[in-house]
Amino acid sequence: MIDAHIHAVSPNLPGTGPLAPLLLQPPAVVAAEIRREMQTSGVSMAFAMGAWNCGEDDPLGINTTLEIAEQVPGLKAIGIADPTRTDDAHFRHVEELLAAGRVVALKGYLGYLHFEPAHANYRRYYELAAKYKIPVMFHTGDTYSPRAKLKYAHPLGVDEVAVDHPDTRFVMCHIGNPWTLDAAEVIYKNMNVWADVSGLLVGTDEAFADDEGREAAVELSHAIQRAMRYSERPNRFIYGTDWPLAPMTAYRDFIFEAIPAEFHEQVFETNAKLLFRL
Ligand SMILES: [Zn+2]
Repeated sequence: MIDAHIHAVSPNLPGTGPLAPLLLQPPAVVAAEIRREMQTSGVSMAFAMGAWNCGEDDPLGINTTLEIAEQVPGLKAIGIADPTRTDDAHFRHVEELLAAGRVVALKGYLGYLHFEPAHANYRRYYELAAKYKIPVMFHTGDTYSPRAKLKYAHPLGVDEVAVDHPDTRFVMCHIGNPWTLDAAEVIYKNMNVWADVSGLLVGTDEAFADDEGREAAVELSHAIQRAMRYSERPNRFIYGTDWPLAPMTAYRDFIFEAIPAEFHEQVFETNAKLLFRL
């Protein structure tokens, strides 16, 4: 099982906190917890988002994640595509890291940062992602920050760049929730667009188990199934949790229930293997 969307460090975005107090702990403590969660839930590989704005020595915001990954078998880093950076030195440094295989994907924080996918400042990231054959993942849908602007995080913005960058593969995180059907249309129309099912339900084990949580899970299951049916591309949906926003085991059980059994192998493993060329 591959979890294509977790956080091992605080994303450091405007208006957001650390996601969980655990992420403020030393790398060894975070690593031990991720190992435990992965083992308990049966996850063999997990991909962790970097942090925004980490300075010149860390242009993709992955240094701490890589340090944690050294202590967690199967953990890999996803670099942040920072649209506030436009200088050649930055992109030279980014390309060195991609060439060295330090990341399995790039991540754009739509909405949190006020740049639409088609903004010129993202273009060089798309070209590098195509060159090094890694996907570009976008936050899409609802945001955790009052300072975010939703219009930048709508799935339709991904259609724009999917058309203009046919050699780049894009992932809409959270299926653009609550715009899951809009996201499904973008997948239906474009061969180079995927979605991850992470972060649709967040909270503790108790929150997943109580009446409200179970009701939300049923509603979200319908939204996921509708999106998969509408897109006609079950091979474009990948598993992710958004841990530590949700416990890995509770989230696995939720998605296991939400997705028709015939697609389990694809969503929990095969689709990610193909997308990330594992
Ligand atoms: Zn996330």
